Amino acid sequence: MSVVVTGAAGFIGRHVVTTLRSRGYTVVGIDRRRWTPGDGEEVLVTDVSAPDGDARQALAAADAVIHLAGCPGVRDRAPDVAQRRYRDNVLAGQRILDLTPADTPLVVASSSSIYGGSRDGRACHEDDPRRPLGGYARSKAALEERCDRRRASGGQIAVLRPFTVAGEAQRPDMAISRWLAAAVAGEAVTVLGSLDRVRDVTDVRDVAEGLVRAAEREVDTVCNLGTGRVHRLWEVIDAVTAVTGRRPPVRVVPAGTEEVPATRADTRRCARLLGFVPHTDLHALVVRQFAATHTRSSPTLDLEVV
Ligand code: NAD
Repeated sequence: MSVVVTGAAGFIGRHVVTTLRSRGYTVVGIDRRRWTPGDGEEVLVTDVSAPDGDARQALAAADAVIHLAGCPGVRDRAPDVAQRRYRDNVLAGQRILDLTPADTPLVVASSSSIYGGSRDGRACHEDDPRRPLGGYARSKAALEERCDRRRASGGQIAVLRPFTVAGEAQRPDMAISRWLAAAVAGEAVTVLGSLDRVRDVTDVRDVAEGLVRAAEREVDTVCNLGTGRVHRLWEVIDAVTAVTGRRPPVRVVPAGTEEVPATRADTRRCARLLGFVPHTDLHALVVRQFAATHTRSSPTLDLEVV
């Protein structure tokens, strides 16, 4: 079986490719960044919003497609971010929908940000209305609407909503990466809003497993990828402290309107459709993430690697 993975050079993409290869699938990775492929992985470097002929052919011939390419990050404030979000989240997604045959299992990465946060500790259910706050979440909502149209017209499609993903090679703009780097450098960590904000932190290995199972099981609906359990931000900082042996000073700054106080996944559909519920051991996860960025030859940390 041959699986196309878009965004294959990225944080989640590398883990998805590893999971697919461990199952014996051949992989065609597509990304606009170059990367070093593993065994059994073909590399296509192209922009998914205007894919070249090889990528079009790969999509037409694939047994399954996992679409991860996108412009992630809720708090990107660069002047061109709206244009990049449209190109990479909406337009690129539309191209994948157009070029993947209707009966090919297609798994698309949306985001938990679509919910606009969990209220009063209640877990977010897939049938809840979309309440996107901020440009990133709105671009994922626009992508989901396009996915709805494919499903309504009889096309195969799973839309998965990962909740805050962490683990080896986490993007450097994400909290645990930033906080590990700050702790090691002896700098303050910046916390948005309050240390009591909560996040459903999901192990990237479970996220990769869920994405692959969604393709294997030909899931045809929306599904959360989260643990259903939450961690307060101070707990995450405690884990960073325990792992690095350094307690960083904490600087709390006002949060933007797109920063929701809490996230938490309803996991019932995930359990039913994917046959498991992600589980996060926060300390072990931070240990792994820290170890993965530390090299013997260099005692400093390279947190820029993705
Ligand atoms: P990432 O930035 O590490 O990986 C995304 C990859 O997509 C990058 O390698 C990038 O080069 C590639 N890409 C982007 N636009 C492209 C285009 N137009 N053509 C070709 N390649 C393109 O991000 P990630 O954290 O691995 O996220 C992967 C997906 O999962 C994204 O769609 C993101 O929105 C979604 N997601 C991530 C998280 C998380 O916590 N990391 C949570 C929810 C959803």
